[in-house]
Amino acid sequence: MIKDILNGWKNYLIENPVIEEVAKERSKICATSGPNGNKCTHLSKGKFTSMLRDYKLHEIEGYYCSKCKCPLSAKVRSKNEKCPINKW
Ligand code: SF4
Repeated sequence: MIKDILNGWKNYLIENPVIEEVAKERSKICATSGPNGNKCTHLSKGKFTSMLRDYKLHEIEGYYCSKCKCPLSAKVRSKNEKCPINKW
């Protein structure tokens, strides 16, 4: 939902320590839940997202989820967002 992604962008801009811990766990899953422990096959780079910096979560920096089309720096920081294939 748009509202949830906006909440994720807010947490991207204004750091919340509790949300950052959750985001760290989620991004680790995105980066390792693919075949043989490699990145998820839905972790993709786009023109817009590749310009985004993420100084805390390097494993998802510049990526979006091709399954739901959401930028991951916002998605993993949104309390109500869920992985579309139930990895987190
Ligand atoms: S949110 Fe889920 S489907 Fe999307 S990249 Fe992460 S693990 Fe893959």
